[in-house]
Order: sequence, then structure tokens, then C-alpha cells
Amino acid sequence: MKITDIKTIRAEQYLFVQVYTDEGITGLGESGTWAYLEASEAVIHRFKHYLIGQNPLQIEHHWQYLYRAHHFRGSAIMGALAAIDIALWDIAGKYHNVPSYMLLGGKCRDKVRTYFHVIGDSTEKLVEGCIRAKELGFTAVGHLTPFLDDGRDAVYNETYVQKMTRAADRVRRYREAVGDEVDICLELHRRMSPAEAIVLGQEVAPYHPYFYEDPVLPDNMDSMAWVAEHINIPIATGERLLNIQEFSMLLRRNAVHFVRPCVCAAGGLSHAKKVAALAEAFNVQVVPHNPLGPVSTAVSVQLAACIPNFAIQEYSNIESSEIVKKPVELKDGYLIVPDAPGIGVELQEDLEKRHPYRMRQLKTKLNYDGSVVDR
Ligand SMILES: [Mg+2]
Repeated sequence: MKITDIKTIRAEQYLFVQVYTDEGITGLGESGTWAYLEASEAVIHRFKHYLIGQNPLQIEHHWQYLYRAHHFRGSAIMGALAAIDIALWDIAGKYHNVPSYMLLGGKCRDKVRTYFHVIGDSTEKLVEGCIRAKELGFTAVGHLTPFLDDGRDAVYNETYVQKMTRAADRVRRYREAVGDEVDICLELHRRMSPAEAIVLGQEVAPYHPYFYEDPVLPDNMDSMAWVAEHINIPIATGERLLNIQEFSMLLRRNAVHFVRPCVCAAGGLSHAKKVAALAEAFNVQVVPHNPLGPVSTAVSVQLAACIPNFAIQEYSNIESSEIVKKPVELKDGYLIVPDAPGIGVELQEDLEKRHPYRMRQLKTKLNYDGSVVDR
């Protein structure tokens, strides 16, 4: 079998790739490079020159060849590599007529627990979102901020004491709204200094959040480790990390309790499986990052199916059936591990026409004094 063509498809805020073969098998992948998908798309077209004519089943070799081709990498390249890798695993599954996870060690579980995205620009909306998620059957809520999901245009202006007390009070209200039947995954979106993260972490610990995600900028792993050492809530981080070496540095510092590789950004299924194995050696669990669409969800389910240390899957409220023909089935807050060959989903026809691409605009939130707020 040989690769005959590679095409990219932009729709909504997604970048998909289709890899074609001379046996009529087509593989589907997605890049998770978020606001820089155009750059990732350009890299995919560079990769195409090498990939055409190659045997698509030599996945690890192609991964190594492309990764080690030149110096200077980063998210655009790793997202492109992820998209290709996912598409090759899709082809391999279809070639052997098994789900891709069967070629990665087989199934460790039948269904994949999810946490449902709750977003709101007021405390009331966030509390209502938690209650609604529970009514829908989810056993966990996430992407849930103790601050507010206010727009990037809204200038941020709170005193330190307002910031801390309002945030702690919101977490109390989330817990009171859902009782102990729903886990709460807090997303801090890098909004605090290490000292603030420790103060708030100690305040909200009595409400037993499942994890405390990205309390500080993740660039300095020593800072994250210092926060982890001083609070009694597990830390989740890693959505911006792109390779096993970076995850290794994070794990060796005991800076993380749940690693968050993005399968569509950190080198695809091949590499995310290695991240999971590294984490396993440290008794750390995996929460695959997924603020993306139904292809990303399907690929994350393939990973979750075949790793022993999976914890919970991020799941956002996307109109999945508009993008793929048969989204992964969701039942009582769990995604059912599919039996279909490959990654288990196919794109809808004419996606680019029916769902035109919307580029993510460059917009950064500002403080009252005009300086930048991290989020
Ligand atoms: Mg996150």
C-alpha cells in the first residue's frame, strides 16, 4: 500500500487532513494548533512531498523521519505531525479491519468517563451550567473557572481581595449546586501568580475539586512544582507541552498529578501513548486535552481505550453530527469505545462549503492599567 495524496480541509475552527492510498483506504486526522492552524496546514503540505509514495503502515518511522528532519519545531509542526500520525493510525486500523486501539495494545476499558464543559460570564450562569450538566447525566464538570469566562474585550479590574474571595465563593457554590454526585474539575487558565495559586488552592481544598488545572503559567515547571508542594489538590497541566522530553521534565519535578497531552498537538496517537507510559511510571494519570471537535474527541477515545492510566476525558458541547457522520456515542456521561475500524469517524460531505472556516482572531485580554492578563 502506498500514500497517493494528502488534502487539508478547513471548517469552522478546525483543520483536518485526509491521507489517500492506492488501496482506496483514506485516513482522517486533525491538527490542534488552535489559533495557528494556517501555519500547521502549510507544514502538512511540506510533509506531503515526503509522504507520497510511502507505505502508510510504517507509522513510527515516518514520525521519526518528519520530526527529526530539521531543527526548529514548535506547535505548528507538532500539530501537523499529529494530524498525519492520526490519519496513518486510521488507515492502519481500516487496513487490518480493527479499531486503531487494537493495534496499540487493545482495549483496557469499554467506556470513557467525560467531564462536560461549563462556561459562563456570570456566577449564576456557571452555577446553572453545573446543574444542567448533572441533569444531562454527566458525573463531572470541567473547564470550570473560579473566575468568570468574561470576554476578551472586557477589561479586568478587581482588587486582590475581591479576586480571591469571589473565586473561593464560586467554588463553594458549584459544590453546593451539584452535591457529591458530580466531580468538579477547576480550570484556572493561568490567571494567578504562584503565591495567589497557593492561597486559593488552600481555600477551595475543602470542596474537593478533582483537579486544579494550570493555576500558573506552565512555562516554568519549577513554579508549578512549588504550587503543587503547597496545596492539597491534585494539579493538572501539560496541554501546551509537545514532546515526551517536556513531559518527563514536568513529571520528574513532581509538578503534576494529571498530565494533559493534546493528541492533536503533541504528536498524535503514537506520541500521546508514550506520554501516557511515562506518566504511568510516576503513578500519574492522563486527562487528554480536548477543546476541539468530534475528530479530536474520537482520537482521544482511541487513546483512552488503550492506556491503563486514563482518568477522565475533556468533552465540549459541539454539534458533532454536523462535522462527522457518526460521532462517538455518549451515554450517561461516558463515551462508548467504538468497534468501527480505524479511529471510528468520517467527515461529513462538503464540510468546507456548509461550515466555512472561521479564523481565530488575535485578541488578548487586558488589565485596567492596559497590561496583559494571562488566560
Ligand atoms: Mg486547559
